[in-house]
Amino acid sequence: MERKVRVRFAPSPTGPLHIGGVRTALYNYIFARSHGGDMILRIEDTDSRRFVPGAEEYINDSLAWLGIKIDEGVREGGAFGPYKQSERRDIYREHVRTLLDAGKAYIAFDTPEELDAARAATPNFQYDATTRGNMTNSLTLGKEETERRIAAGEQYVVRFLIEPGREVTVNDLIRGEVTINSSILDDKVLYKSADDLPTYHLANIVDDHLMEVSHVIRGEEWLPSAPLHVLLYEAFGWSDTMPEFAHLPLLLKPVGNGKLSKRDGDKLGFPVFPLEWHDPASGEVSAGYRENGYLPEAVVNFLALLGWNPGDDSEMMDMETLIAKFSLAHCSRSGAKFDYKKGLWFNHEYLQLTPDAQLAALLKPLLEAKGLTGFTDEYTARAAGMVKGRANLIGDLLEQGDFFFAAPETYAEKDVRKRWSEETPRIMEELIGVLEGIDDMTSANAEKIVLAWIEEKGYHLGNVMNAFRLAVVGACRGPHMFDITELMPKEEVIARIRRAIEKINV
Ligand code: GLU
Repeated sequence: MERKVRVRFAPSPTGPLHIGGVRTALYNYIFARSHGGDMILRIEDTDSRRFVPGAEEYINDSLAWLGIKIDEGVREGGAFGPYKQSERRDIYREHVRTLLDAGKAYIAFDTPEELDAARAATPNFQYDATTRGNMTNSLTLGKEETERRIAAGEQYVVRFLIEPGREVTVNDLIRGEVTINSSILDDKVLYKSADDLPTYHLANIVDDHLMEVSHVIRGEEWLPSAPLHVLLYEAFGWSDTMPEFAHLPLLLKPVGNGKLSKRDGDKLGFPVFPLEWHDPASGEVSAGYRENGYLPEAVVNFLALLGWNPGDDSEMMDMETLIAKFSLAHCSRSGAKFDYKKGLWFNHEYLQLTPDAQLAALLKPLLEAKGLTGFTDEYTARAAGMVKGRANLIGDLLEQGDFFFAAPETYAEKDVRKRWSEETPRIMEELIGVLEGIDDMTSANAEKIVLAWIEEKGYHLGNVMNAFRLAVVGACRGPHMFDITELMPKEEVIARIRRAIEKINV
């Protein structure tokens, strides 16, 4: 029988979710949806030293913003909970016991100092079949002494007993077969008595098993852990239901070699986090895609193509289309360059597809922050619609369309020099008269009348129109002049011309 597809995104709440983690979550979600499966969000918080307050909420908010819907998780609940590892201690304790009883794991008391000494004495020291016989553990101490030490309250760890010399094969859906020899693995710590918590490896595979995860889709950085995980499944007798693995390629720097880092973003001016992050310890603020003016649809589309291709040349794909087209077979093995300019391009394209009313809703808070209030939604929507063609980010709508909401304070010097001469004030006075006489300010009508006046007077078309623009916009930029004056109240247009006549001195 085909197994039900169940995937999980399993972040550790150690800080803001990096954009690479977002891509992992996205691929899991798309894969689940494309197979009618379930998407689990599991919080892997077994390393209490690295816990960061606010990180879990940040993960939830980021996924929600991007439209990555969780079927089972801490907030959503579900039949396989709890979904937070720190609430599953009993489960891990029981599984550690199972391995100990079966002789597949052992207890070790080596202190940090002893381990340091061993590392200093043996180059490339590894706690494994060749060294464990010389260390302080239940294999060398025997049962009674081990029990005595535990009863006396000595701290210990549980280590996985790895048999050397075995070929271990990971069948990766993206990379194919990856085989290593078990001798290169060390006896990984699975559990620490000091905080009564398992390590990542044990908790991760126990939960994947109990939560009936069918596919583990995660970043390439976890590939080295996979052989150990294969051996753990085997030790528990779960090989038959072991999930399939798919390790996603690294996200690479936009320029140069190596892994994408926050520094690349700082240097080149793009965020590496989905939402703005306020570090609770340092107070440092890191930029987020949302706050920088990206649309979630654009970020999703951009990320989906970093490591996967649809097999044809489609670029613009919404979530539904991605779900319809996605397959792990089209994921690449080689790293994906983080082409942030492509991200901007996607955002531009999605801004064009967004209804003007929605753009207005996004623009409104930016206007309010500048104290620009009192405009109807319809006015704001039409203004946004007129300037969106020049916008890559939501903030560009304000930058490009500011004049719709406030009269210019200054006039672009270069344009003044070029377009405002001694006779301009007189011509602008005349223009005011012409405008006052127009009842129907719709674009085509006003244009016809104004152009007829310019022609009749034999004025220079470019100079008059650009002076007009300078007075209303503050610079020679912006959409079609008569589209602007169709939207803006006529009294405002006239007031701005008057103001320019007063303020611009040549
Ligand atoms: N907790 C790990 C992380 O932070 C999970 C890795 C995995 O998916 O197995 O990414």
